[in-house]
Amino acid sequence: SMSADTTDETSKGSTVTDDIIRLSAAEMASKLGDGSLTSVELTQAHLDRIAAVDGDVHAFLHVNAEEALATAAQVDADRAAGKTLHPLAGVPVAVKDVVTTKGQPTTAGSKMLEGWIPPYDATIVTKLRAAGMPILGKTNMDEFAMGSSTEHSAYGPTHNPWDLERIPGGSGGGSAAAVAAFEAPLAVGTDTGGSIRQPASVTGTVGTKPTYGGISRYGLIAMASSLDQAGPCTRSVLDAALLHDVMGGHDGMDSTSIDAPVPPVVEAAKRGDVSGMKIGIIEQLDGEGYQSGVKARFDEAVAALVDADAEVVTVSCPSFEQALAAYYLVMPSEVSSNLAKFDAMRYGLRVSPEGVEAPSAEQVMAASRDAGFGSEVKRRIILGTYALSSGYYDAYYGQAQKVRTLIARDFAKAFETADVLVSPTCPTTAFKLGEKLEDPMAMYLNDVATIPANLAGLPGMSLPAGLSDDGLPVGFQILAPATKDERMYEVGAALEKALEKTWGGPLLAKAPALKENN
Ligand code: GLN
Repeated sequence: SMSADTTDETSKGSTVTDDIIRLSAAEMASKLGDGSLTSVELTQAHLDRIAAVDGDVHAFLHVNAEEALATAAQVDADRAAGKTLHPLAGVPVAVKDVVTTKGQPTTAGSKMLEGWIPPYDATIVTKLRAAGMPILGKTNMDEFAMGSSTEHSAYGPTHNPWDLERIPGGSGGGSAAAVAAFEAPLAVGTDTGGSIRQPASVTGTVGTKPTYGGISRYGLIAMASSLDQAGPCTRSVLDAALLHDVMGGHDGMDSTSIDAPVPPVVEAAKRGDVSGMKIGIIEQLDGEGYQSGVKARFDEAVAALVDADAEVVTVSCPSFEQALAAYYLVMPSEVSSNLAKFDAMRYGLRVSPEGVEAPSAEQVMAASRDAGFGSEVKRRIILGTYALSSGYYDAYYGQAQKVRTLIARDFAKAFETADVLVSPTCPTTAFKLGEKLEDPMAMYLNDVATIPANLAGLPGMSLPAGLSDDGLPVGFQILAPATKDERMYEVGAALEKALEKTWGGPLLAKAPALKENN
């Protein structure tokens, strides 16, 4: 209906904009570098796209056009003045709303933090700003990063750009959908049990969780501190490597930060050479029992790697059968501790209990936490408090920590025979909004293949493997040993090259809902 009264000139104009936003971030950077594009044009094109489609997608909780355009104008001026700039200077980025941004709202998808304006930037935001990357806004997420569908956001769900009736994954559905809908070329996510990789899987995008400690956690609103890790959400493996490289590196503000240079991820992504590499298929996660199209695309992707001269072996990780159960003890335990700080005394929501005259601090805390937290967050706080309580600690938390050690040993053994390990990222493609909302266990099962990497602190990537029988994207997961992040980029780039040849270009070009939105 919109095209009916559009003149030739404006449709030409929108085609140019449309072309710009569909480039990879690497291509955008090179156009900025050779002067054929300005950052203001590029940033404005994304803001226009957000205005056009985000009413349907709802990837953003907050858009900061003014600040993004100011950064863009500054970068353009610096470039014109001949200053040396970061390779990604002027390329815009979206940031998950669990990452603090000075002067900009940060809610973590919760009513508890509605209206909170952080007084400081997370280290990764400081790094994005230092590189001259305009920050478009903050992306939607499950409350405090708990969920697999973004339906637990207190501000309403995000919709999958492939089919607006379906989930975009979670908790970082907003970041993945923003990238899939061409509202942002790059986005930041966080992954505690799969929240970068599972959304990437169901939106046909690339998501990587670096080695634990590879990217600073300072300024991330903590979910489970021993599992949380920030990472890139992008449309290509090289773009993921470029964003990883900007955000990574040692940070004295994070006591678990790795004191070593960022692994050579960009070089690996540019090379994409798997000849002679050993690819290990994890027997316990080889797609048996998964949706049939998921298994078929996984097997084809493995065959494509063999065609590219990789060698395939099968590895056994028996303790992975207990990974989900261990995660749902360790994670809620840490959640119950981390979320204790939302006490209505220092910042965030404060609610007075009804009908109580001169309420005590405890009564205000209880009323505020009751009103501020959603049901999934409460479920986990209660579970974690129980698991940590005296008399139960050894039986639950202690046992789960032992399983964690066994999982790390399984990985160590598997990496004696394989350079990387692979599996489907998720058992299914994107399910319908509402389908699993009333069934927490069904929701939790989404992360059966992603959780082991968090429990062991290893890096993992999900990239598109093609479309299932239902026409929806399937994700392929690559896991590497700790601090060897470059290996997953090497294999991911090789697989992307091989599969895009068979698709005739990027998978996202096939997304039907996006075409309707143009
Ligand atoms: N879906 C998982 C959960 O609900 C993972 C969340 C995450 O990685 N932040 O816990």
